[in-house]
Amino acid sequence: YTPLKESDPEVQNIIDKETWRQYSGLELIASENLTSVATMEANGSILTNKYSEGLPGARYYGGNEWIDELEVLCRKRALTAFGLDGNKWGVNVQPYSGSTANFAALTALIQPQDRLMGLGLPDGGHLTHGYYTAKKKMTASSIYFQSLPYGLDPKTQLIDYQNLATQARLFKPRLLICGASAYPRDWDYAALRKIADEHGAYLMADIAHTSGLVAAGELNNPFEYCDVVTTTTHKTLRGPRAGLIFFKKEGEAGKDLEKRVNDAVFPACQGGPHNNTIAAIATSLKQAADPTFKQYAKQVIANARVLGQELVGRGYKLQTEGTDNHLVLWDLRPLGLTGSKVEKVCDLVGITINKNSVSGDASAQTPGGIRLGTSALTSRNLTEPDLKKVADLLHRAVQLSLLLQKEAGSKMLKAFVAVATTGNGEGARLVRE
Ligand code: PLP
Repeated sequence: YTPLKESDPEVQNIIDKETWRQYSGLELIASENLTSVATMEANGSILTNKYSEGLPGARYYGGNEWIDELEVLCRKRALTAFGLDGNKWGVNVQPYSGSTANFAALTALIQPQDRLMGLGLPDGGHLTHGYYTAKKKMTASSIYFQSLPYGLDPKTQLIDYQNLATQARLFKPRLLICGASAYPRDWDYAALRKIADEHGAYLMADIAHTSGLVAAGELNNPFEYCDVVTTTTHKTLRGPRAGLIFFKKEGEAGKDLEKRVNDAVFPACQGGPHNNTIAAIATSLKQAADPTFKQYAKQVIANARVLGQELVGRGYKLQTEGTDNHLVLWDLRPLGLTGSKVEKVCDLVGITINKNSVSGDASAQTPGGIRLGTSALTSRNLTEPDLKKVADLLHRAVQLSLLLQKEAGSKMLKAFVAVATTGNGEGARLVRE
């Protein structure tokens, strides 16, 4: 046994630098979080060595006695974390990520070239919900299925359920997908169920972003209305990078979903499960079922609200003027700034955010907004007064972006970038100070 720092100091050094970046900066990427040391320990464990294609009790390899025990435990914890009855719901814990979970779910629910509807990417939807552009079908969900996006009401920037119902009457989808990567409000699952039922369509919720908040009971419950619920495990749920697929086991829709979902994950879309990841999911789900996690989820939302209020209080424009969940979408267009410009300036001063399209953007390539999330900062125990300071730092970063834009090409811009990028994060620290 030779530790990493001796056997590969080059990689160890990169890990050290990234560790410093994560802990010295302000992490505001809405799809990220800081998972626990216990979860990382499980993720980096000896379980990575084992092959176990198949399901507990039915594997294609020997030696899976303990892996079976692990996967059964993980499934049990997944149902417990979301308050589900094992007679009514089942779960597959093998998906490698949210995207593979979604593609496996589509494979299970509909046939190639069947029709699906999901929230359009420019309105906050995800690539895997049928995204394509006028030029290209670049996602598997639009290459192998016919897709029609639905969108937001341009006035309220909320999901336009009425228009969605009208579109669905023309398009007649076999599958309706809800859930988003950048939507700051909650979903009306009852309304979506009604629309799906009109066409005998399946209803699937992808709660990748909000699953921690759903598990804590802080948002509407998709399990009351949906046939399938997918999620990543690394966002608000605070686990390792992976995915889960929950499927209904009762009623007409649930009749054979268990087999269809399990077969879609393996062998249709994946090979051997990543058992180290399954152990890490199990560990994080135990944490998510603990009462302290409910407190965490409440604080994530309270922090996002304060962040939103502080920005609105400074005269900035947010999509829907605020938030119900962990994220806020900041529309920079009234300032004449693009999301990428502000993202770059924030990077230089140790604030990590991402550019994001906002409702009505002319092009998804040059988005007019940024997305901010409070999951990671809340994991570092930041509360409302801290978020007020964060809002002030963001305000200053945006003012700096405006100044730099005005001075583009000038000596001042060059000097700023030179200082900010010197040394090993030292320049960024100086600029921040
Ligand atoms: N679904 C939604 C709503 C997401 O936001 C994301 C990722 O951000 C995914 C699925 C894909 O997850 P992954 O990156 O793990 O494939």
